[in-house]
Amino acid sequence: MSSTCKYFSILLVVLFGICLIRTFVIVNLSKKKLPKCSKNENHAFIEVDWKRWERFKDTLRMETISYEANEQNKDELKKLVEYIIQAHPTIFKSKHVQYEIVNGYSLLIHVQGRDKSLLPYLLAAHLDVVPVVEHEWSVDPFSAIENKDGTIVYGRGTLDDKGSLMAQLAALEYFLEIGLVPQRSFYIAHGHDEEISGYQGAKHIAATLKKKGVDRLHFVLDEGLVVTRGLFGSMNQDLALVGVTEKGIAFLNLSVEIHGGHSSMPAKETAIGIMSGAISRLQSNQMPGRIDNLMTEMLESLAPEIGFPTNIVLSNIWLFKPLLCWLLSNNQMLQGGVRTTTAVTIMRGGMKGNVIPSSASAIVNHRIHPWDSLDDVLQHDQRIINDDRVRITVLHESEPHPISPFSRSSSITYQLLTDTIEQIFDNVIIGPAALVANTDTRHYLTFSENIYRFNPMVLTKDEIASIHAKNERISRDNFEKMINFYFHLMINSDRTKLREITDKKGEL
Ligand SMILES: [Zn+2]
Repeated sequence: MSSTCKYFSILLVVLFGICLIRTFVIVNLSKKKLPKCSKNENHAFIEVDWKRWERFKDTLRMETISYEANEQNKDELKKLVEYIIQAHPTIFKSKHVQYEIVNGYSLLIHVQGRDKSLLPYLLAAHLDVVPVVEHEWSVDPFSAIENKDGTIVYGRGTLDDKGSLMAQLAALEYFLEIGLVPQRSFYIAHGHDEEISGYQGAKHIAATLKKKGVDRLHFVLDEGLVVTRGLFGSMNQDLALVGVTEKGIAFLNLSVEIHGGHSSMPAKETAIGIMSGAISRLQSNQMPGRIDNLMTEMLESLAPEIGFPTNIVLSNIWLFKPLLCWLLSNNQMLQGGVRTTTAVTIMRGGMKGNVIPSSASAIVNHRIHPWDSLDDVLQHDQRIINDDRVRITVLHESEPHPISPFSRSSSITYQLLTDTIEQIFDNVIIGPAALVANTDTRHYLTFSENIYRFNPMVLTKDEIASIHAKNERISRDNFEKMINFYFHLMINSDRTKLREITDKKGEL
């Protein structure tokens, strides 16, 4: 054996050894957990009784729709806010609570804590819902119809976002009912136009907070990702995804204007041909993928649950990064996690079979990953299209949000959120991820680095597909989990010091 060969073999053995050790340590990583929320717990398990369930159903009957054209059903919104206030006297008559209706229809509740030196936090949800296409539904979307055994209720807004809205209120009501007063103050903010970007609701709530002198918050928790069930076939456990950032979005218009003419005498290149070339180049040269810290954390959280040999790969991302990046970039469902995506959604050109059109245009939709900016995307597109005749204009854009801390051992806010998830959900793996949709958090970004997007409910792929679509529904069990989650979060949020948890990864 030549000496190069010998050294190479030793190197391989050492690398394999390191991989095995890391896999063993990560797979056997045990963390100290808080006690589970259970029905045996004293004063700490809230059941969905008749009152809580019926109140929730009442809100589902109110058609608080935000239409695309920035129109809203204002009477219904007003009715909902008034209903919330009269249905929760324990909250709205409490001496520990102040509240106000912001900009006519949004609700801001302040629960005064004992220790004024602690930064308050904010829980958000929204009162409005998206429209329905009634004939697609198998039940009336605004009648709160239940299944036969009363374990599921159907209705627009069950998942997005009246479940969270009413669960936050039920949790606070119980908190006050049993005589608790928090150390740390907190706000509950219910915007009324999240589905049309929150400029009348959350934006005004943010301004109201500033007027009160509140410009820093401990953390913000709004709607977002959920606990997913059966997302990957081979995984037995549920996967709780905490949204620590939001991807940005850009709609670009590409246009070409060039001389047209009769189709019997075509020029070498036509507007349609030039546009097709540009689009084809964009599609085959997507923005580069990368495995960043966020994706690394996510993949490492999965490692203990995935079988051999994938667990070796996921426990050793430092070695397998290029391979993983290639695999994820080429997976239609997962590519969004590793790069800015490019999709051509509309193409226009030509009017008549025998006329060469003088113009052609297309719409490109990018979902911008947090490590890219709109500028990066525009530069990439220009470089790839590489044709001055194709004009690019931005129709609509929003930059990606900053990435909030996601270390359980060093971020107190991520820790208390993930601790609470573990208290409520059995058999769950937790990992940070980027949310592709947008939320009201855009209006709270300046208040805190710790902005999280998570709805505490377990959903299957089918249930997730009903959000903003037909037959949206929620189980009574999920509603109960949500209430208990917010209640435990209210208790855990008084924490002022990091809880020590075993984290062997730091030793590697
Ligand atoms: Zn929503």
